[in-house]
Amino acid sequence: MKHEKTVQTGAPVFTEEMKHTHTILIPDMLPLHFSFIEQILRQDGYKTHILKNEGPAVVEAGLKYVHNDMCYPAIIVIGQMMQALESGDFDPEKTALMITQTGGGCRASNYIHLLRKALDKAGFHKVPVISLNVSGLSPSPGFKITVPFLLKAMTAVIVGDFLMMIKNQCEPYEVHSGDTEKVIQKWQAFFLKKWETGSLTTFGYLKKYFPQILDDFAAVEKREERRPRVGIVGEIYVKYSPIGNNHLEDFLVSEGAEVVVPGLLDFCLYCVYNGVVDQKLYGGKAVKAKISKIAYHYLTKRQNSMYKIVKDHGVFRAPLGFSEKKDITEQYIGQGVKMGEGWLLTSEMAELVTEGVKNIVCTQPFGCLPNHIVAKGMQNKIKAIHPDANIVAVDYDPGASQVNQQNRIKLMLANAKMDDVEQTEEKEITVPATGGISAEM
Ligand code: SF4
Repeated sequence: MKHEKTVQTGAPVFTEEMKHTHTILIPDMLPLHFSFIEQILRQDGYKTHILKNEGPAVVEAGLKYVHNDMCYPAIIVIGQMMQALESGDFDPEKTALMITQTGGGCRASNYIHLLRKALDKAGFHKVPVISLNVSGLSPSPGFKITVPFLLKAMTAVIVGDFLMMIKNQCEPYEVHSGDTEKVIQKWQAFFLKKWETGSLTTFGYLKKYFPQILDDFAAVEKREERRPRVGIVGEIYVKYSPIGNNHLEDFLVSEGAEVVVPGLLDFCLYCVYNGVVDQKLYGGKAVKAKISKIAYHYLTKRQNSMYKIVKDHGVFRAPLGFSEKKDITEQYIGQGVKMGEGWLLTSEMAELVTEGVKNIVCTQPFGCLPNHIVAKGMQNKIKAIHPDANIVAVDYDPGASQVNQQNRIKLMLANAKMDDVEQTEEKEITVPATGGISAEM
């Protein structure tokens, strides 16, 4: 097989021919969302495999090739890919790797170079790496991000956010363990089939199913209890990835909480909206800002439509839309703060406390300076306006003790439970006939 090399680095690139011969390994982050995105990639002709390997061996594989002062997300995802290649389960002659490259000022733009270095050190010189980005970085002739692909990927993000949001409001209260998961699996299989056959292409088609999905979740038999709601915010990988955050969502539910996780579409909107902000603050090409504005309106319209369907249905809660979220953030932080998760992280905390989710776990990779600034660094400001905010910052890194992480979270939950009792006494709670929780804390 002919292996083309990039002119600049000499590294092999993913060619047109490889699209038919190579399996692309993709580290998992959000299991539901990624299952949909994988299906869309397959529909576009790629062979893919989402990596779900985890445990100490993954961390060890990461630390073997990446210095421990690098970002924890890089150690984990590179560890997953190197362990997969070294396991012998994948033929290095027919395997490619995919990694995101943000194109921003933070180190995530350079994970790809760490991965390339690790591959060369381990002797996998011929394994190409595909950079997933929309900035035109490290192009691969065999992998193109097209507008139709982006539109389908955004639809996948919306379905993933929708299912995740309702699942989190349903699962902690289910009477029969596993009932909520059955609803998830039913609709996950349904949408995967739709993408496989190419019949799910537009949001208009997709949203017809939302009321049926809500009915299915509402029909799950639930206990009439109230649990303290706990928001999860933080650096994108450790916030979402069960591997990165030691299965934080499961732990919180097992400790008696209802989890609230901001959707991935908010992050996409944040990236798009930054294109508008950049032009305002620094000038630059007007055409780029115009494209960002079009994409922003396209996505916010769909997000608002999704949330309206949830509100009209009346059983489950919907969070604030991105545009409202960004507006309430203006009193806390400037929109020029964009390193790491930037102002979005502060915005997520502000939105949660404004919406009555006073308890927040703020996940951050140890030593992630940008996110410490917009998370831990903003806590006092948030507490000055919302004194009842109960926020705990938890660091994740290869040396962090899971017991210590859980003890910090338990301490926060102890306060959360007391707060919840006080709030329950103060406010009337309505439990609909379906058992869904509708009152705000
Ligand atoms: S945001 Fe934090 S974890 Fe992500 S690349 Fe930057 S320093 Fe690393």
